[in-house]
Amino acid sequence: MSRLSEPKPNKRLPLGFKWTAVVAAGIFSTFIVLSLILLALMRQVLINQERDAVAETMSAVQSRLAPAAKNLTAQAVLPRINADNTAALSGTTAAGQPANSVFDDSVVQKISRADMSLAVYDRAGHKLFTSRDSDEPLVQVAHTVIKMTNNGRFKGMIARAPVISSQNGKRIGYAQITDHMATFYATMRQLWGIVAALAAAALLVSMALGFFLASRFLKPIRSITKTIDQINEEPQSSARIPPLRRNDELSDLVDEFNAMLDRIQRFIDQQGEFVQDVSHELRTPVAVLEGHLQLLNRWGKDDPEVLNESLTASLQEVKRMKSLIQEMLELTRADSVDVQFPNATVDINEVIQQVVNDMRMIHPDFVFTLDNDLEGPVFVRMYRNHLEQILIILLDNGVKYSTKRKELHVSAALDSDGVALAVQDFGEGIAPKDRERVFNRFYRVDKARSREKGGNGLGLSIAQQLIESYHGAISVDSALGSGSVFRIQLPTITAETASRLQAQETALQSANEPAPEIKSNL
Ligand code: ADP
Repeated sequence: MSRLSEPKPNKRLPLGFKWTAVVAAGIFSTFIVLSLILLALMRQVLINQERDAVAETMSAVQSRLAPAAKNLTAQAVLPRINADNTAALSGTTAAGQPANSVFDDSVVQKISRADMSLAVYDRAGHKLFTSRDSDEPLVQVAHTVIKMTNNGRFKGMIARAPVISSQNGKRIGYAQITDHMATFYATMRQLWGIVAALAAAALLVSMALGFFLASRFLKPIRSITKTIDQINEEPQSSARIPPLRRNDELSDLVDEFNAMLDRIQRFIDQQGEFVQDVSHELRTPVAVLEGHLQLLNRWGKDDPEVLNESLTASLQEVKRMKSLIQEMLELTRADSVDVQFPNATVDINEVIQQVVNDMRMIHPDFVFTLDNDLEGPVFVRMYRNHLEQILIILLDNGVKYSTKRKELHVSAALDSDGVALAVQDFGEGIAPKDRERVFNRFYRVDKARSREKGGNGLGLSIAQQLIESYHGAISVDSALGSGSVFRIQLPTITAETASRLQAQETALQSANEPAPEIKSNL
């Protein structure tokens, strides 16, 4: 492969870094968004307060100036709004009106604020009075207008209003308040400063929190990687991930992972044992075969009797090996039935009757009694051949290990767990110490006798493996000298489920069927 076509490895960014960044960014941006919303709300509240204050001041100014009947003049205005005017404070004006200074009014006192200025104009727009310098030009409005302005010259709030005479309802002048909103802007600057400081703190805290969370989450992943490395280095290692002292998905993952390693280890051990057992079992027939071949080699060429005898014995031994190999294959296949036949279903009632009838034909010297309580079809999820194979193994054993009383009972009935089958013989029976072990592969109570009868010690292992693969159970009850009962329990399914599964199976088979081959004569 040329170097050019090699895929570029992705730049590696550690998961911890990514998690820290994501958590930090998440917390930080949430904080910023919330802060901005809060700032905007506070800004609005402060502006509304300022607007109310300006509106109140303006209406106070309007009401103080309203008693004049004609166009406003400096003489009429000044006494009402000049704080130093003692005449005004004493209660009269040039026009003889009640002359409370606007500064007497607690509301109007607000215009004494350094950032606020009041200007009063006559009807023609000539400035009559201004409390502080304000260059904002007059705009002659018909009613009060208050708005925020930022025109480069002035930044703040402007209120404009006409002064209407309370005597004749005519417009006699204008008032204009400019508010630089010094407190508002100072408060906003302070708030921004606080938010910026808090944001920096939030960034630090969220990064620390992100880092803490990331390392907490990554700890089990690191220990999983470490354990895998250990196992890679030493496949037989018994290393497991140390259990986490917490109850969450990660501790579930660790438990599952450890259980999986245990299962794999068990599987590897079983495979090893199986190879050992198989080599052990094959050793005897191979040795027997070797003996006969040596005999043939030495004497057989000249002695037709030895030739005949050794050939017959060798052939028998080869036949035994063949059956042993066949059974071993069946045993290894028996644990993957779920994958091979996922939709297989069978009517157990029909198969029992068929197998018992077959056995009656093969062993006419035996009496087979079928005590069948099943009415009509009873379905189980199972491949038909496997059910037949299990029944044949049990019935065959019954025949093999019954010498005196040649009688076998087969019974079938439904119970709360599904269907219960039993195969009973009245033969030699099994001693308590052997009862559980008869299901172990290659286990035979009497090796020599079993071998004589053609047994490899695999039949019951195959039967058990098959039944357990189909989620059933098998057990044995036996009394030495009186006989044995092998019991099988299998879960049943309804006829509807069975026909649905059969339809699926048929569809699957027709989909997998190869297209008919077109034979060419060329
Ligand atoms: P085999 O092919 O040797 O019969 P199995 O796995 O079928 O192997 O049985 C294992 C052993 O259990 C047999 O060798 C035999 O000793 C014992 N066994 C099985 N079935 C019976 C039975 N019905 N009665 C007495 N012993 C039995």
